[in-house]
Amino acid sequence: MSTKKRVLITGGAGFLGSHLCEKYLNKGWQVIAMDNLLTGSMDNIEHLIGNDDFSFVKHDVTNYIHVSGDLDLILHFASPASPIDYLKMPIQTLKVGSLGTHKALGLAKAKNARFLLASTSEVYGDPLIHPQNETYWGNVNPIGIRGVYDEAKRFAEAMTMGYHRFHGVETRIVRIFNTYGPRMRLDDGRALPAFMAQALRGEDITVFGDGSQTRSFCFVEDLVEGIYRLSQSDYVNPVNIGNPDEISIMDFAKEVVKLTNTKSKIINKPLPQDDPKIRQPDITVAKAVLNWEPEVSRSEGLKITLDYFMKKV
Ligand code: UDP
Repeated sequence: MSTKKRVLITGGAGFLGSHLCEKYLNKGWQVIAMDNLLTGSMDNIEHLIGNDDFSFVKHDVTNYIHVSGDLDLILHFASPASPIDYLKMPIQTLKVGSLGTHKALGLAKAKNARFLLASTSEVYGDPLIHPQNETYWGNVNPIGIRGVYDEAKRFAEAMTMGYHRFHGVETRIVRIFNTYGPRMRLDDGRALPAFMAQALRGEDITVFGDGSQTRSFCFVEDLVEGIYRLSQSDYVNPVNIGNPDEISIMDFAKEVVKLTNTKSKIINKPLPQDDPKIRQPDITVAKAVLNWEPEVSRSEGLKITLDYFMKKV
């Protein structure tokens, strides 16, 4: 019997899930990736197949989850996560955040495993405080088009705390802010893949609204380090992980134009309903509890990501 620790990563073939698979393998864990491949892709984990410490199970976690043997940790990352994806798949998004979280927590309880929930800055909705810290309860429109994701994740947080308080499951909650890097899907509709694909193809770059809305983009390597540290800490309350370096979407589009040297023009398109106007993580808790802060600047991270997208376009 191996003495290595075992982690189950739901959504393991997704953008973040696949980077987490690598992270835990590098830290000496055995990794089981589980994914129904709705938005995830085998391309993201192809290079891990054949590693004795890695296995993949195709399964929809809204149904009963069976894993044989011991588990030390479950990272619950399964969910459509880009606005376009969850608008296209509203019911699956609601189900994986609710039923899927329930199943994954049930498994954690049965295996006596620690459970870490991938939550989101979307729990803050269109925020009325800035930057957002973890004590803010948010400003979410439950019946708006983003409600299927926001409320599913808010429910998932409530369910996680329920299992912690009632069943004594060891739980962690990470609130993930905008993250980018290799293995994002070119067509996931998010700002960065959209802008890079448009720039590389010489198409117009579509800024929604006047582009004055802000986001704060974190490079994926920084994010997975923060998540790893949180999983190893004893801090139960939610922790924001993200890069506080805030930028308007118009300036972000201009950065992509400059980096790619494209002749593409920036054009404006209507702003989607309930699109948050501002977003910046307050990472005081992550700094204090995890001794974590991002290290990769946007200019470094964007170069690495561009190399990836150039091969994909
Ligand atoms: N956005 C944009 N053009 C696009 C895609 C997105 O201007 O082609 C804007 C979007 O309206 C939002 C911001 O970029 O204000 C970030 O969008 P994204 O979908 O990446 O993530 P969000 O933070 O909204 O979940």
